[in-house]
Amino acid sequence: MTVGDTRMATTLESGGVQVSTIEHLMSALAGLGVDNVTVEIDGPELPIMDGSAAPFVFLLQSAGIEGQPNLKKFLRIVKPVQIELDGAEASLEPFDGFKLSYTLDYDHPVFAAHEHRACIECTSVSFLKEISRARTFGFLADYERLKMLNLAQGGSLDNAVVLDESKILNTEGLRVADEFVKHKILDAVGDLYLLRYSLIGWFKGYKSGHGTNNGLLRKLLATPEAFEIISFDDEASLPPSFRHSEAEIEVH
Ligand SMILES: [Zn+2]
Repeated sequence: MTVGDTRMATTLESGGVQVSTIEHLMSALAGLGVDNVTVEIDGPELPIMDGSAAPFVFLLQSAGIEGQPNLKKFLRIVKPVQIELDGAEASLEPFDGFKLSYTLDYDHPVFAAHEHRACIECTSVSFLKEISRARTFGFLADYERLKMLNLAQGGSLDNAVVLDESKILNTEGLRVADEFVKHKILDAVGDLYLLRYSLIGWFKGYKSGHGTNNGLLRKLLATPEAFEIISFDDEASLPPSFRHSEAEIEVH
């Protein structure tokens, strides 16, 4: 299975079949620490739901998460790797846990009034509380262009934060003041999940999107000296951010 088109969303391809807009489900799976799952789908893309990962988190928690006897495998960053693509930057650096920093840079009045940067150590608890509910966002002008191309047909203010030239169109406003940058972190968590290992390292993104994040993973996998695959025999030797068991996670 390979990652295909990343212009608007991340698409997986295998045997001539494509499934797009997978990133928010991937983020939910990563945030909950799920690394063995079957997803059945009867269409070409995942439903966008409310534009965040929260509905997928709710469904996964409702279905239940089971521990398995095999040791979980982790990919630990041991040397920095970075990529620049069309003015965006993304990097992975060694860190004893899983941390993400992100910086937005849009020349737009709404972004000038909201937090551009966030840095969060990602645990199952912090993912649920601070990341999972952040909705995707977009610009009205892009949305109207997509409609003309027969894309984003289901797009509405129910599944995205939409901006015109000067303001947020959703009457309810943002869920949290830093929802924009938190959503970029949500996306990065999902993109990094495609490594197929839990990541021990620090992701830093500047304007990076799915394409840049995927390019970073490809560069990482082409740089064997930058990482190692490891397991831990006992929970006490795990990095602190991985020590939370599912039993500590509550449905909100
Ligand atoms: Zn997203």
